[in-house]
Amino acid sequence: MARVVLKFGGTSVGDVERIQRVARIVAHARNGGQPLAVVVSAMAGETDRLVKLARAAGGETPNSAPAGGPGFDDEYDVIVSSGEQVTTGLLALALRQLGIPARSWQNWQIPIRSNADHAKARIDSIDDGRLGAAIDAGEVAIIPGFQAVTHEDRITTLGRGGSDTSAVAVAAALNAERCDIYTDVDGVYTTDPRITQKAQRLARISYEEMLEMASLGAKVLQTRSVELAMAKRVRVRVLSSFVEPGEPNPGTIVCDEEEIVEKQVVSGVAYSRDEAKVSLLGVEDHPGVAAEIFGRLADANVNVDMIVQSQARHEGRQNIVFTCPEREAQRAADALAAVREKIGYEDILIRRDVAKVSVIGIGMRSQVGVARTMFQALSQRNINIEAIATSEIKISVLIDSAYTELAVRALHTAYGLDAVG
Ligand code: ADP
Ligand code: ASP
Ligand code: MG
Repeated sequence: MARVVLKFGGTSVGDVERIQRVARIVAHARNGGQPLAVVVSAMAGETDRLVKLARAAGGETPNSAPAGGPGFDDEYDVIVSSGEQVTTGLLALALRQLGIPARSWQNWQIPIRSNADHAKARIDSIDDGRLGAAIDAGEVAIIPGFQAVTHEDRITTLGRGGSDTSAVAVAAALNAERCDIYTDVDGVYTTDPRITQKAQRLARISYEEMLEMASLGAKVLQTRSVELAMAKRVRVRVLSSFVEPGEPNPGTIVCDEEEIVEKQVVSGVAYSRDEAKVSLLGVEDHPGVAAEIFGRLADANVNVDMIVQSQARHEGRQNIVFTCPEREAQRAADALAAVREKIGYEDILIRRDVAKVSVIGIGMRSQVGVARTMFQALSQRNINIEAIATSEIKISVLIDSAYTELAVRALHTAYGLDAVG
């Protein structure tokens, strides 16, 4: 029988009753012996609590600091990964209560190996031998998401939301028929259902669109999990863990573009508040300056996103504005301050009250006027656009974060995504 991987997120395993419902879902999916591996997150709120503890003890998310040196906190991962282990044991117990053979598999027991990029590690191998044999023999395997071990047997984590990636990686390694991601919404919506009740569940979404949606802020799937699913052709379904087993629960299928009959111009609207805008004012205007600035930022491990260059008030000078994740803005400013002489800028400003709002759709490739609709909808609400970025299937704008919800709702309506009734 074909193997299947199921994944349950934090809210879905938030307390013992919910874990018991998850056990019933797993029992139903097993349906007389289908080989199952189940990937679980930490109970809701637990990872946040652990991150706070780690920081209070002086552990920072490791960045590019050299292994073993100052600033390199591999112990951060030891702390924040611990929540998932608890859930594996609780779910295994709940399954045994239902008479289903189950056991937990910690990452080192499989093992699931990653590189040593702590807090944002990438899985590079999963030994499917013993794990595959165990599930084929009828025992349900419960695996903690979000973590792995390095080739030196140190614990790593895969970045926030990383259990999705664990699930897809396990599904790929086990050659599973599909990977079902159970969460607190019943599928992928046209936008975050917390922002507008008019959001609609999508029956299908292409890998490309889902990848953009995730990387532009829709946290329903971790970006890396979609990348991996796309590369390894894993069939992913997103569905609700709050529906009793046996009740209708179609969810959203993430699949190849070819499987989508009706291609929407815009399939979804995403937003991200984790943005900062850094403005370098009065930069000397000569060749090599941009290379110097963005080279420095890359060395400082700053993820630069949007870039806008414009003429400054003074002759021979320009303004360079870029965005990056909020936590990296100060690092960016420090890195640039160190080369102020060389670059010759007049001032540097950081704004944290900005948000990025994006519209995504594969139909955009063959349609004109998509940007105009966006800009008109925003201007009708008096929302000022501070930067723009486009790709083949998305348009993003940077705006004042106070208008995030308003902008998302306006765009949702403007592109005809609102649910009727
Ligand atoms: P889990 O704990 O199961 O991993 P997450 O909180 O990581 O769940 O992701 C689910 C949440 O993602 C939903 O509660 C929803 O608010 C949010 N979300 C954002 N954008 C979307 C979207 N387009 N479709 C569905 N959910 C979305
Ligand atoms: N528990 C981890 C987090 O909260 C991983 C996950 O839930 O996907 O980020
Ligand atoms: Mg998640």
